[in-house]
Amino acid sequence: MDCLFCKIAAGEIPSKKVYEDELVLAFYDIEPQAPVHFLVIPKEHISGADAITSENSQIVSHIYQVIAKLSRELKLEKGFRIVTNCGEEAGQSVPHLHFHVLAGRSLAWPPG
Ligand code: AMP
Repeated sequence: MDCLFCKIAAGEIPSKKVYEDELVLAFYDIEPQAPVHFLVIPKEHISGADAITSENSQIVSHIYQVIAKLSRELKLEKGFRIVTNCGEEAGQSVPHLHFHVLAGRSLAWPPG
């Protein structure tokens, strides 16, 4: 499958890794939008948040556990934001489920 994040998960395209286990990979975003900006992806291909089902949803709780662990390790105690863009109007540019983790500056709400 011609999927950028599948290739990153398989190590075929290099990334700046934050964390990896058998199910997920976390790596720094190539175009950071905050002083800390990394992505957490399932290694399994899921096209987006609209493709989560009762069969594959366990990965989402695992990803949130990984993010909580990384937030402690990276000392993000001042706060962080988790974002998943889904679909064209939300600005999803890579059709493989991913969770942005943004921190290190004050983040506007509501987002633009
Ligand atoms: P989204 O636009 O929400 O689908 O998020 C996709 C993100 O992937 C963007 O923030 C991009 O900067 C990021 N991105 C694209 N290619 C790479 C890459 N090779 N390594 C790291 N991040 C990437």
